[in-house]
Amino acid sequence: MSKIQMKVPLVEMDGDEMTRIIWKMIKDILLTPYIDLNTEYYDLGLVNRNATNDKVTIDSAEATKKYGIAVKCATITPNAERMTEYNLKEMWKSPNGTIRAILDGTVFRTPIIVKGITPYIPTWTKPITIARHAYGDLYKNTEMTVPEESKCELVCTDKNGNEVRQLIHQFKGSAGIIQGMHNVDESISSFARSCFNFALDTKQDVWFATKDTISKKYDHRFKDIFKEIFENEYKEKFEKAGIEYFYTLIDDAVARVIRSNGGYIWACKNYDGDVMSDMVATAYGSLAMMTSVLVSPSGVYEYEAAHGTVQRHYYKHLKGEKTSTNSVATLFAWTGALRKRGELDGSLDLCAFADKLEKATIQTIEEGVMTGDLALLSTLENKKKVDTEEFLVEINERLKKML
Ligand code: NAP
Ligand code: MG
Repeated sequence: MSKIQMKVPLVEMDGDEMTRIIWKMIKDILLTPYIDLNTEYYDLGLVNRNATNDKVTIDSAEATKKYGIAVKCATITPNAERMTEYNLKEMWKSPNGTIRAILDGTVFRTPIIVKGITPYIPTWTKPITIARHAYGDLYKNTEMTVPEESKCELVCTDKNGNEVRQLIHQFKGSAGIIQGMHNVDESISSFARSCFNFALDTKQDVWFATKDTISKKYDHRFKDIFKEIFENEYKEKFEKAGIEYFYTLIDDAVARVIRSNGGYIWACKNYDGDVMSDMVATAYGSLAMMTSVLVSPSGVYEYEAAHGTVQRHYYKHLKGEKTSTNSVATLFAWTGALRKRGELDGSLDLCAFADKLEKATIQTIEEGVMTGDLALLSTLENKKKVDTEEFLVEINERLKKML
């Protein structure tokens, strides 16, 4: 059989620790035997980030803009311990943060659902994709503790020096706290467009919610921007695709999410997304089964697993012990990127291969062959725990029969 060809490269961002080991295994066992992989390779492993003064991260993001699609391995975000472990010149910033800032994207997280691993909310038979607005609000706030009898005001000075003041609170017999937050129309608009584009891509409804009844200016601005962009740019496309944009209050949204079957994109303000993505991930069962894609408003995609580098397993691996690390989310990052490459370039064979590889992966788990983390969760009766490499070999056995 001749290998599948790729017309245009995709950007490959290699990473750290156990996921770096898995990365190579996935390529060797499941990809290169079938595809003439055409990637522009960037080594985002911490050793190379340090050697290049983190230039490699910026270069990889610029290349992603150029080619439109990237697949990324999990990477270490350095802390004090990593400074000594890797003898770092600097405490380099989180690569994901750097890439997100360059691509101006929104992160969409989607659980992979398999039989035998039942969500805590059993009616969630389809995935719920959370989109978190990753700019501003509480995460860029200014706050103070203030003594009693303080008069606290919001002051805005415009470019001509005109001041507008509004009372926040006149403190009386007690000290207290105050906080100032902001967001910018441009960022909210990018967020809205990323959500609507991703909805069209995946043929799913978009739900968005704020507390606009209480926050009549701040939250209401989010509601208005979403509505305006939807009406002007997406309404017709949504009608054609048979999908909907649905706005409601955040508390109503939470109640509806719990009662739903899933199968939509839930766009969340920054804080709601922080909280709800952890809730949704936990409810679906496993972080190792959560994929993540960064989508820019201009239609650039970066695929990755939601989990980290699985450090504890890596140290076992270094000691020569077998690990049973789940490669599903990393594998689905690859299939997501390959399918998108195929869609954009009109390579149907690449799309079909990605579909089959995902099917073979799910079939493997549903036939009872899985890594240790899933074996602990699965309700299947005849399950077999396999090691990291055996799992990929088992997938390959099933994949071969499908090709
Ligand atoms: P982690 O790598 O997600 O792992 C935390 C624990 O979750 C593991 O020890 C393991 O539990 C379990 N786990 C996660 N993924 C798994 C998988 N694929 N298969 C089996 N079990 C899995 O988080 P961390 O240990 O907090 O972070 C390690 C490094 O990853 C840090 O340096 C952090 O900076 C980085 N990180 C990177 C990204 C990213 O690049 N997107 C995201 C998060 C963290 P058991 O040990 O109990 O088996
Ligand atoms: Mg959180």
